Amino acid sequence: MIRTGDEYRESLRDGREVWMNGERVDDVTAHPAFQPIVDVRARIYDMAHEDEHRDTLSYEDGGGRFAVGLKLPRTRADWWEKRAAVDAVMDEIGGVVTRVGDETVGEMWSLFDGQDVLNEVDPRFAANIRRHIDAVLHEDVFHVSANTDPKGDRSKLPQEQDPDMLLHVVRETDSGIVIRGAKYETASAYANQAFVKPTIANWGDAELSDYALGCIVDMGAPGLRHLCRTGFAGRGPAEDYPLSSRVDEIDSMIIFDDVEVPWEDVLFYRHTRAAAFIRGTLHRYSAFPFVQRIQRFADMLIGVALHNVRQTGLERQQAVQEKLATLACYREGIHAHLTAAIALAEPSPAGLLMPNQSLLYTGRVLACSQLPAMMHVARELCGGQICVTPDHAMFAHPETAPWMEKFYTVNDEWTAEDRRRLLALARDLLNSDYAGHRLTFQLFAQSPPFAHLGAVYRNFDFSGPLDVVRQAAGLSERVPA
Ligand SMILES: Cc1cc2nc3c(=O)[nH]c(=O)nc-3n(C[C@H](O)[C@H](O)[C@H](O)COP(=O)(O)OP(=O)(O)OC[C@H]3O[C@@H](n4cnc5c(N)ncnc54)[C@H](O)[C@@H]3O)c2cc1C
Repeated sequence: MIRTGDEYRESLRDGREVWMNGERVDDVTAHPAFQPIVDVRARIYDMAHEDEHRDTLSYEDGGGRFAVGLKLPRTRADWWEKRAAVDAVMDEIGGVVTRVGDETVGEMWSLFDGQDVLNEVDPRFAANIRRHIDAVLHEDVFHVSANTDPKGDRSKLPQEQDPDMLLHVVRETDSGIVIRGAKYETASAYANQAFVKPTIANWGDAELSDYALGCIVDMGAPGLRHLCRTGFAGRGPAEDYPLSSRVDEIDSMIIFDDVEVPWEDVLFYRHTRAAAFIRGTLHRYSAFPFVQRIQRFADMLIGVALHNVRQTGLERQQAVQEKLATLACYREGIHAHLTAAIALAEPSPAGLLMPNQSLLYTGRVLACSQLPAMMHVARELCGGQICVTPDHAMFAHPETAPWMEKFYTVNDEWTAEDRRRLLALARDLLNSDYAGHRLTFQLFAQSPPFAHLGAVYRNFDFSGPLDVVRQAAGLSERVPA
């Protein structure tokens, strides 16, 4: 049931149409920008087969083995196991990757919870929903998420502008629906399928709409084009950009140029109530692994800052300790939210176990909204040398190397080469083009900040504070609860 890395690689050689830097990519498994991230995804598949990682990344059920990350969560133990599996992957790759499947599959569990509501709205697709939820687990597919359309002029309804600004159905055929438009999607070019559903947009108030559409789309389907942004991997010298030159998750604009989706892959269709329901519950599970990645990122911020102040002998300064403590509070704040979300997990409408929703969503706001400030604290602790240090070639050239050696050797423990390596990592983490990209990823990839706060507003139980004040002020019974 669990695939190998090579089986995954083979699944990508399906004639898909992928473009980068104005060129068609023949084979994403061999292209310099894609190969590193494909290899990371393949490594995750392979880890599940190895003695050292098998029990962390996979589990046995009815004679078969399945991926821990794809398991429908029913107990607290399931959540602890998922958390441990993500940590094992991050340890293995020595950095942070997010869109590798476990973080997007949770949207399918939201769909599992939504089966009754979707059936009630339109019962035609009930069997498709069940089959696809089952297939993700049993076929171990790499599954990603497609929500965000280009959207165009937001002051207008989609029908009042180029209709393709939001993905929509153009016609029905005997075998399915034909869809047209575009979506932004990380990892689509090297994933197997995507759960495609509407973005946050101006729907108008119609009950039925060609834009209310949820389906599973094969990432190699005819008519689908992946137009990718330039990759970071392999762009800079590895010595100077140790994170980004090693691996980079590629985002694409995927074009649906009249793509036919078979009826058996349609999950909901035309009912705006179904679309609104799905949007409202989308991140109920997937916010957990998303926020977990930020905890790992926070560890990296603390690590570079502390190594640096130890190198430069500044750790004993109280003001420096306070900044390190600020980073630790941020990291532990995320850790506490995730841990409490498991400890106080709650049953979902369909009998799964959801992380405590209020704690999970407030944790996501804490992690995302404070990230820029925390990156800045780490940058401040690293000092200006992260942006003025000459590159590796200067440490290597016979004429300049002695000077670099002289001024970058700190003491017996910290050689010039170790100092250079730390500063290069810190620069890539905090100051590079890639660092800005990662920050924007955390800001937007699981919807924008206003939607994160909207999720908090809908899930925090306001009745407690209202009661506290009702009692303290002696308010009358007429005041609404
Ligand atoms: C690196 C990266 C990776 C991504 N990967 C994926 C992916 O895998 N799958 C996917 O579907 N999407 C992905 N996205 C897209 C992401 O979901 C969108 O960027 C996000 O939903 C915001 O949409 P937008 O970019 O169109 O911003 P806009 O809608 O233009 O919003 C920009 C800003 O306008 C304001 N604003 C807009 N509408 C409102 C409103 N209704 N109320 C209040 N303020 C508002 C807010 O300040 C908001 O931040 C990715 C984005 C990035 C940057």
